[in-house]
Amino acid sequence: MPLIKRGAIAIIIVADDIAEQAWDDANENFKRGTFDIEGGPNSTVNTKVPVLWLHKNAKNVFTNGSVNIEANLIVEKYPYPSVNIIGKIAGTDPTLKSEYLLYSGHQDAHGIRNAINNDSTYYGADDNGSVDVAMLANARAFVKYPAKRSVLFVIQGAEERGLLGSRYFTSHPTVPITSIVAVLNGDMIGRNHIDSAAVLGTQIPHRNSDDLAKMVNDANNEGPKFKLDTTYDKVTHLEGWYFRSDHLPYARLGIPAIMYTSLLHDDYHTPLDNAENINYPKLKKMADWMYRTGYKVANAAKRPNANKNFKLER
Ligand SMILES: [Zn+2]
Repeated sequence: MPLIKRGAIAIIIVADDIAEQAWDDANENFKRGTFDIEGGPNSTVNTKVPVLWLHKNAKNVFTNGSVNIEANLIVEKYPYPSVNIIGKIAGTDPTLKSEYLLYSGHQDAHGIRNAINNDSTYYGADDNGSVDVAMLANARAFVKYPAKRSVLFVIQGAEERGLLGSRYFTSHPTVPITSIVAVLNGDMIGRNHIDSAAVLGTQIPHRNSDDLAKMVNDANNEGPKFKLDTTYDKVTHLEGWYFRSDHLPYARLGIPAIMYTSLLHDDYHTPLDNAENINYPKLKKMADWMYRTGYKVANAAKRPNANKNFKLER
């Protein structure tokens, strides 16, 4: 974007060794084009500036003096539907029921793609069916034992296409945005060792509510007692995951937000992310952790604070 602001009319990126290794995966993603919300907020796609990515051997050509490239670019645009699925459970307290705890998880995966072991269906059981079923279990518990505050369940669309569902919800909220007291987002919670998990949003600079961070940790200590990996909040972490899931648009508005995950695995974004490979006892523990946190938030006398000095690194 800075290059476009400075007047670039086209951008050519030449792969280095690392980008060259990622070529096949990226090619698979980019041949579907890019996605955005039509006329939407925080629009990041500028279709007027073509970006070309060349193999690393193109570097030789560019370093040998001036080069002319002739390219015929055809830009096509078409609408592609997605939905946020929203459920609401009313609170019991006459005053606090006008405030909302929001559970978040995405419902999209990758559809049909390049086959691995003759299977081209990208089931998305962990990413993110695991969170969707945990949200349904949490919803069932809140129906049975309603909290003082109301609870919203937002199963977001098109997260994998650029957090589109959560960006849409935060700009077209179904309840007043200031009435959302906290966001508990989950992304992949059904894999890896049963004793360990990760949480994002509890460490500086991503911690935007000391109260919510305490509730998340207390809920873990009282319930599943996971050994927690909190390193994903480090600005130096290579995954940059804090910027890749649906809590982000809420956090940017100053709403206390955290993300639960059981972290990555070799089957991530492949047809092997299927139901047979889910660790169900682990998934149950993660759902329990989300419920214990949510129960605290939805019944607390005071809503979780929003840290005043919260500032994201990008
Ligand atoms: Zn995901």
